[in-house]
Amino acid sequence: VLMFCLVALGRAEYLKYKDSKQPVAVRVKDLLSRMTLAEKIGQMTQIERKNATADALAKYFIGSVLSGGGSVPGPQASAQAWASMVTEMQKGALSTRLGIPIIYGIDAVHGHNNVYKATIFPHNVGLGATRDPDLVKRIGEATALEVRATGIPYVFAPCIAVCRDPRWGRCYESYSEDPKVVQSMTSLISGLQGEVPANDVGRPYVAGSKNVAACAKHYVGDGGTYMGINENNTIINTHGLLSIHMPPYYNSIIRGVSTVMVSYSSWNGKKMHANHFLVTDFLKNKLKFRGFVISDWEGIDRITSPPHANYSYSIEAGIGAGIDMIMVPYKYTEFIDDLTTQVQNKVIPISRIDDAVYRILRVKFSMGLFENPYPDPSLAGELGKQEHRDLAREAVRKSLVLLKNGKSSYTPLLPLPKKAGKILVAGSHADNLGNQCGGWTISWQGQPGNDITAGTTILSGIKAAVDPSTQVVYSESPDSTVLADKYDYAVVVVGEPPYAETFGDNLNLTIPAPGPSVIQSVCKATKCVVVLISGRPLVVEPYLGDMDAFVAAWLPGTEGQGVADVLFGDYGFTGKLSRTWFKSADQLPMNVGDAHYDPLFPFGFGLTTMPRNE
Ligand code: BGC
Repeated sequence: VLMFCLVALGRAEYLKYKDSKQPVAVRVKDLLSRMTLAEKIGQMTQIERKNATADALAKYFIGSVLSGGGSVPGPQASAQAWASMVTEMQKGALSTRLGIPIIYGIDAVHGHNNVYKATIFPHNVGLGATRDPDLVKRIGEATALEVRATGIPYVFAPCIAVCRDPRWGRCYESYSEDPKVVQSMTSLISGLQGEVPANDVGRPYVAGSKNVAACAKHYVGDGGTYMGINENNTIINTHGLLSIHMPPYYNSIIRGVSTVMVSYSSWNGKKMHANHFLVTDFLKNKLKFRGFVISDWEGIDRITSPPHANYSYSIEAGIGAGIDMIMVPYKYTEFIDDLTTQVQNKVIPISRIDDAVYRILRVKFSMGLFENPYPDPSLAGELGKQEHRDLAREAVRKSLVLLKNGKSSYTPLLPLPKKAGKILVAGSHADNLGNQCGGWTISWQGQPGNDITAGTTILSGIKAAVDPSTQVVYSESPDSTVLADKYDYAVVVVGEPPYAETFGDNLNLTIPAPGPSVIQSVCKATKCVVVLISGRPLVVEPYLGDMDAFVAAWLPGTEGQGVADVLFGDYGFTGKLSRTWFKSADQLPMNVGDAHYDPLFPFGFGLTTMPRNE
C-alpha cells in the first residue's frame, strides 16, 4: 500500500485535455468541464500588447493578445525580439492552473506588414488584378512563414470585403468589386492555414507550426456602405447581401477558416456587432461555421453611439449576437467584471459563454497550440527572405494593368527598350518605398519615405533593368531646366499618399497635387508612360490624352523591380481590372452589371504586351 501511494504521489494527474492522442472534441470538453467562470471569460478576452504583461495574462486568464495596426515592439525590431516578446507572454499564460496558451494575433494584410524587413506584397486590389488564385495561395504560405518567424500563430487576414465604392478608405484591402473574384482569392486562407484534408472540409484547420490561423473579415457588408463611408450603413436587401457580400464567406468556411471578424458597419441600420440573425442564425447555424467569431477593435463598445455609452448593454448585445472573442474591450477589466455579473445574474446564459469558449479552444487545440505554444527559433530566417521577395516581385508583375499603350494602337510605347538613350524618371512615387507600400505598413497609416523598411523602389528597379548605356535621370518634380533637356522617354510615377481605414475615405478621388501638373508638363515635353500608385482608380480622364501609356500599379509593396520587369519587357502585361474605372467620381457607386454602366475602362479591361527578348 505504501508503495502504491508513493507511486501515485510521484505521478502527475492524467489530464485528458493535455493528451494529444485524444480527439480534439474530447480534449475541448474535458478542459471546458474544468474551467471556472473567470477562466472562461478570460479566454473570450483579447487585449492589446501594451497591457499584456505576463502577470496580467495570468491574473485574468486572458485568452488572446494582439498588435493592432502599429509597429511593436519597436519600429526596427528583429524577428527574435518579436518572438521573445511572445514567449514572455506565453509563459504568463502557461503559468496558470490549467495552462491554456494565448493565441497572439496580428494584422498581416499584405505580408507581415508590422515588421521591419518583412516582405510586403501588393495590397489586395492589385492581387485581384492578377486573377491568379494560386499565386495568392503561395503568398499566404510565405506570409504564414514570415509571421511564424516572429513567433505569432494568428493573422487578421484576409479581408474579403467586396468593395462596391472606391470612395471607401479600405477599398485597397478588397480584391475586387466582383464577388466571384473575391471568392477565388480566398485561396489566401489555404496558403496561410494549409489545405484542409478532404474529409475535414469546413472544419477550422491549421496544418501545423509553419501555418497560421486566418481570419475572414469583416462580416458582412463592410464594402457596401453608403458612399463608401468607413464603418457606415450598408443599405441593401437580403438578396443583395447574400449575392454580393456573403459569397466569399462560403468559400472561406469550406477552406476551414479558423475565425471570422465582425464588421463595424451596420446592415440596414442595425450594427453588425449586435446582429444575432447574421452572426448566430446564419453564420454559425446555417453555414455551420465552427471556428470562433471575433469582434473588431472596440467593436462592441461601438454598438452604441457615442461608443461606450452603455457598456453593459453593448456587452449583452454583442455576446448575445454570437461574438466569441472580444478584441480590445475598451477597459478590459471593466468588461470582465460586467460580463461576470451578467452571467451570474443570468442575463447572459452560461450556455452562450460555453459556446464561445468551446469554439476558441477548438481552434487552439486544432492548430496544435497546446503542443507548440512557443515560437520556433529555427524559423527566424524566414522573415523577408529572397524567395518571398521573388514571389512578391512576381505578384507585382502580374498585378499591373495596362490601360493605354500608345497614342494609337499602331504605335505602342511599351515595352520600353532597354537601350533607350536617356530616360527621365519623375514623380512623388518613383523613388518612395513608403508611398509604394501604402497603409498598413510598419505603422497603421503607413508613411512616405525610403527608410520605412527594406525594399526596392521603382526608380532603383528601372536603373537595374536598363542597359548600362542608358542614362536614367531622376527628378521628383522636374522644373523647366530639366525639361529643356532632350529625353527619349519619361516614366512618371504619381499617386496617393499612404492611408488606412477612415483616413482614406475620399469623395473626389483626384490625383493628389502635384501629380497632375507633373504628368502634364513631362508628357507634353517627351514620350511618357504614367504609372499610377493608388489604392483604387482615380480620376485620370483629363490627363489621359497627354499620356502615351498608362499603367495602374496599385500599391505594389516592397518589390518595385516588378514594375521595371514589365515596363522593359522581361515579362508581358497580363493584369485585368478588378474594379470599374470611372470617368468622374459623381458616377459612383458604379459596378459591373449596373444598368447605367458608363466607365472609362470597364471591369476586366487590361491590354497585354508580349515579353521581349533582347
Ligand atoms: C480594423 C481591423 C483590424 C483591427 C486590428 C481595426 O481597426 O477594422 O481590420 O484587424 O483594427 O488592428
